[in-house]
Amino acid sequence: MVAGIEKRLFEGDAKKGKTPKYSLNDLDNELFKALALHITTKRIPMLQQLRVGLERYDLIKVMQKKPQECHDLFVIGYDDKVDSHYILSHLAPEMSPIGSIKQVKESKIMEFFQDFLLELEDTQPEDAAAGENLSVPKIMQWMTGQAHTHLLVSEREKFNIVFKFDHCCLQHMPNHTVCYPIVSACTNTITFPVVHMVDYESFKTLMQTAVTYGASFDRV
Ligand SMILES: [Zn+2]
Repeated sequence: MVAGIEKRLFEGDAKKGKTPKYSLNDLDNELFKALALHITTKRIPMLQQLRVGLERYDLIKVMQKKPQECHDLFVIGYDDKVDSHYILSHLAPEMSPIGSIKQVKESKIMEFFQDFLLELEDTQPEDAAAGENLSVPKIMQWMTGQAHTHLLVSEREKFNIVFKFDHCCLQHMPNHTVCYPIVSACTNTITFPVVHMVDYESFKTLMQTAVTYGASFDRV
């Protein structure tokens, strides 16, 4: 096949070097004509048939009303990678009353969580999800059991990650020195042990340990 193309497009001796038969403009014109023919005879009828099929289920109307959502469903390359924005925009923290000391501590933990995700994102190369290192998709996996975004808009809309705050672990079990965040992936709920997360460093260490070893010891 390559020899055939070469014969059509080039002339001359292979040893002395071949010269193209056509100028670039000729080639452009030929290519353009071939493309135009292909589009009018093959692609347009295919698209028309597709449209008839879509009309049968009233999908055309849905596509006209929600173009972006439908684009994501039909176009290959839909990006289902979880980033920090996706997680942060689906948080549903159960906070104490505004102005209380508990609420101040809880807000701090929300900030630590945000910093933690952003730091992971900044220090991870794009394709780190498959590696051993901690990554934003791995945090998502740990919290919810899935590492990708939700494909359906309806699922995306009802998707929430619930944050709970445990202020009382020392009262339940006096004299212990460490607690880890506890995750319930079935209900997308994470409970943070507030007294053990007084600064960013302690928050980060506990999160790293919980996510890395979480599957084996704190899943409920
Ligand atoms: Zn504790």
